[in-house]
Amino acid sequence: MSIKCDVLVIGGGPAGCSVARAAAKKGLKTILIEEDEEIGSPIQCAEGIGSYLFSLMPFKIPKKQLKWKIDGMYFWANDIAIKKEGGIWSGYSIDRKDWDKWLASMAIKQGVKLFTGTRLLSLKFGNKFEVTSAITTKSGKKIVFEPKYVIGADGVDSTVLNLLDVRKTDSTGHVKSYEMKNLKLEYPRCDQLFFGEFAPRAYAYIFPLSETTANVGVGTVDDDANLDDFFDRFVNIPSVKKQISKGKVVSEKSGDAPIRELSNKIVYGNIFLVGDAANQNIKPFIEGNIPGVICGDILGNFIYDLARGKDTPERYEEIINNKFSLIKDSQIYADIVYGETNIERRLFNLLLLGLMSDIIPPEEDIDRYVEEGYDFLRDHIIKNGGFVEKRI
Ligand SMILES: Cc1cc2nc3c(=O)[nH]c(=O)nc-3n(C[C@H](O)[C@H](O)[C@H](O)COP(=O)(O)OP(=O)(O)OC[C@H]3O[C@@H](n4cnc5c(N)ncnc54)[C@H](O)[C@@H]3O)c2cc1C
Repeated sequence: MSIKCDVLVIGGGPAGCSVARAAAKKGLKTILIEEDEEIGSPIQCAEGIGSYLFSLMPFKIPKKQLKWKIDGMYFWANDIAIKKEGGIWSGYSIDRKDWDKWLASMAIKQGVKLFTGTRLLSLKFGNKFEVTSAITTKSGKKIVFEPKYVIGADGVDSTVLNLLDVRKTDSTGHVKSYEMKNLKLEYPRCDQLFFGEFAPRAYAYIFPLSETTANVGVGTVDDDANLDDFFDRFVNIPSVKKQISKGKVVSEKSGDAPIRELSNKIVYGNIFLVGDAANQNIKPFIEGNIPGVICGDILGNFIYDLARGKDTPERYEEIINNKFSLIKDSQIYADIVYGETNIERRLFNLLLLGLMSDIIPPEEDIDRYVEEGYDFLRDHIIKNGGFVEKRI
């Protein structure tokens, strides 16, 4: 059996649902395949979204998707903390299962045909990178699609990237994360970020979902890291232990996230990458839920223009950069926060705190702070709103 379509979207996450919705809305025959049986499951996310991105969304987020109000962010390193509230620091916690299902339902409403439990296995190419057919499997049966355009919205572990054989190394971070209940959260209305040897060249977090529940996780870019060990170390630092010592794991939400480009390009022939597969998240926090939706919408509309001969594939990246420059602009953080460094660990923790809390602009000469030394940086952070965390 072979099914012809205009657009075949691989992956039913935020980016895939959004691109499928936008393409179908323009009248393109669009098929969305998702390997999992259920959209939105399993969850691999800390489920935070920033309100500053709401105005860039292609459609309004219904109130019922906004599960828990977040007033600000709390940052901690060594013995120093800082709290930032309002504006760009505020947002919500969502339920990714509901969120992804909502996005998929909007795609279906526009006429998208959704195949769940359907996994992309291989691609057949005509000329270099021009896909002629996509071979998938559903319940052991083969389904072949013949699309005009293929969208790789299949996340950080993208099969599309693997089949193209263009994947770069050293591009992903790894996160161990659990939803926990019975917590005694110190700041239930703040997302908490922690920098230390429990999350080398990354960060650990507590993202509240309610007064007593939260996603708790540790990240690192080290491919050989023992994440269980890091998680143990993190939950045993006094300021965290105090909050979660009676905590119980509800579910695991671990996963990988792109820290820099996974491939040199985001267009190969008639294949277009979007969302995590295209490293379309905002650094330094690696925020991809809303960016995936925004980029998906831009791509869906762009494919419509291509189909009418009104644009050329090479312009995709330029169009994303023009319409949603935040992604490209934020990449400056990637190498500073997630790159190799010789800076002494305690000083580096404090530098991360300064960078992530916007006390130190990423364009600034970081070496200056290293040269001036630890006490100088600590004073600088305290002068800019930081405080000594008495609980340690
Ligand atoms: C632990 C963790 C915490 C995070 N926390 C946050 C956060 O708090 N806020 C935030 O904004 N971002 C967060 N992110 C990032 C965010 O989750 C991603 O950026 C976002 O999910 C990207 O959406 P996507 O649609 O590109 O990919 P995904 O959501 O990964 O969706 C890809 C889909 O493709 C499917 N798929 C894969 N291969 C195939 C195949 N061969 N055939 C068919 N289907 C396939 C997968 O099953 C999946 O459903 C976090 C990431 C991780 C790992």
